[in-house]
Amino acid sequence: MDDCIFCQIINGKLPSEKVAETDLTLAFKDIHPKAPVHVLIVPKTHRRRPDELSPKELEDLFKLSREIVQRTGVVETGYRLSFNIGRDAGQLIDHAHLHLLAGRPLSLG
Ligand code: 5GP
Ligand code: ZN
Repeated sequence: MDDCIFCQIINGKLPSEKVAETDLTLAFKDIHPKAPVHVLIVPKTHRRRPDELSPKELEDLFKLSREIVQRTGVVETGYRLSFNIGRDAGQLIDHAHLHLLAGRPLSLG
């Protein structure tokens, strides 16, 4: 999608700080981090919501998130994986993305 910020990051038209990637998934640092570790993990194909991902895409996304938490060393201290889905959850970018937050105590809300 031409007007999607995350698609532009995926195809290299916009810069990002890449954390990891596979054929199906890209992980990059959030531009406005809400915790010492704040990574966005996204399918390389434009999907608006997580339920639009194929089982293979979902598996790849969660496998990559596991690799990143292991590599980042936050397995013991803890971390949060979350999707904001739709208006009430505050989804601002209409390209499905998994937030990985870690490195400080994380309250709900
Ligand atoms: P949402 O509220 O849609 O779940 O979260 C979107 C996230 O994308 C926000 O945390 C925001 O800081 C991040 N973001 C927005 N624009 C950009 C950008 O151009 N580059 C990067 N790396 N992150 C972005
Ligand atoms: Zn997109």
